[in-house]
Amino acid sequence: MSIEDNCSQWQRELIPRHEPNMIYECIGCDRRYPLDQFLYTCPLCKSLLRLRDLNFDRLKEVPGERWRDIFDRRRLLNIAPLKGIFLFHELILPIVPLEDVVYLGEGHTPIVKANQELSSMVGTDFYIKYDGLNPSASFKDRGMASAISYINHFVKRKGLDQVLGICASTGDTSAAAALYLAYLDHRKVKSVVLLPQGKVTPQQLSQPLGSGATVIEIPGVFDDCMKIVEELAERYQVVLLNSKNPVRINGQKSYSYEVAQQFDYASENLVVIVPIGNAGNITAIMEGFLDLYHLGIIGNLPRVIGVQSVHADPVYRWYKEGTYTPVKVKPSVAQAAMIGDPVSFPKVNKLVSEHFTDRFGVVQVTEQEIIEWMLLTNRHGHIVCTQGGETVAALKRAHEAGMVTTGDTVVVDSTSHQLKFADFQTKYFEDSYPEAYEIAPAPRMKNAPTLLPASAREIAAFLSLKERS
Ligand SMILES: *Cc1c(COP(=O)(O)O)cnc(C)c1O
Ligand SMILES: [Zn+2]
Repeated sequence: MSIEDNCSQWQRELIPRHEPNMIYECIGCDRRYPLDQFLYTCPLCKSLLRLRDLNFDRLKEVPGERWRDIFDRRRLLNIAPLKGIFLFHELILPIVPLEDVVYLGEGHTPIVKANQELSSMVGTDFYIKYDGLNPSASFKDRGMASAISYINHFVKRKGLDQVLGICASTGDTSAAAALYLAYLDHRKVKSVVLLPQGKVTPQQLSQPLGSGATVIEIPGVFDDCMKIVEELAERYQVVLLNSKNPVRINGQKSYSYEVAQQFDYASENLVVIVPIGNAGNITAIMEGFLDLYHLGIIGNLPRVIGVQSVHADPVYRWYKEGTYTPVKVKPSVAQAAMIGDPVSFPKVNKLVSEHFTDRFGVVQVTEQEIIEWMLLTNRHGHIVCTQGGETVAALKRAHEAGMVTTGDTVVVDSTSHQLKFADFQTKYFEDSYPEAYEIAPAPRMKNAPTLLPASAREIAAFLSLKERS
């Protein structure tokens, strides 16, 4: 639909016109800093920063019901910058004008009703949001679309011409960063990713390489890479693209807006289940629902349940025991979430205590459960990654524990695409997991190709086919 197809009233409302007053705000000491610089932590107290629009209250002048209409109708417009996460421009990054928005096809990922037999095995009906159907095949594209639009804006408007985008990654952040940065002017913008050697899948490694990024591998795990990029960002002129960058968090809020929109803004019994790694995603999801709630777009906050593997569970332990201590991670098939000291934990802590106290939970699952629920889910017509398997396993646990009941509308997040983690499936089928994973493949769950002669007769015999009469 073209904008001219709308009456003049709608034309005025459909194109974003909100004038924001955005700043960084420290979550520790509340100090504010202007947004015309790249900042990740408070220069004074070193706490995390979040973005705030000091004009947010002006958005409340439009009733929630009208916002719902605006967002729904906007989806019909054929205006590229409004096609992705910036459909919700006012709530994501309204300082970036539409001309500077970088849209590479992210967002508006499908929500698919889980297969009935699978639902019976889990114990309750549910939906899967396929965030693997983003351009670099994970939800990280949401935050990257926002961070790279912001960089693009700076490059175009402020004459910035020496941008070195850098990130540490468990695989998917680097894939997304490399993809989005490759779309910008190569004379002005370069991309570097730091990966823990041997701890990203071959598919994930191929992504930044294919996008032309400089790929640096270091020995260790993600937490080691993170420390190095933090030091680089503190001492050198680089732009940090990890979720410590609050501009990324703002883009990832789009997940919540979409879930709300895809259920026609009914949030009464809504429950979302997400894996927790660095805790950026769950932070963004809570912040996103809060925005909608404050604007009257949804009537109540949904419940948010995080999940962690027993091999990387600092947030689960905090939830259970009340104290937060980083853990030393062990190998996990939910490798993208294999993080022992999540950077965004302080944000989770604050959001839970201020807003989600009775609407938040964390469950813990074993490695065996993660891989088997991934396999089972995909055997029923789905395309979830290991982290998606983790959320299905979490739903089963949460249902058994009474945290989720029949009648709830449950959405589990498959944060990336099945194919990124194909190696973990192969390891299961070939029974080749190193012991540290603590996974014992069950024969009934295995699958393997059968080599047969190129003969219809022999193949028919193998399949016990009956002859046509
Ligand atoms: C990054 C990532 C996670 C973890 O998200 P956080 O924001 O780090 O908590 C989970 N799944 C996949 C596929 C990821 O790429
Ligand atoms: Zn501070």
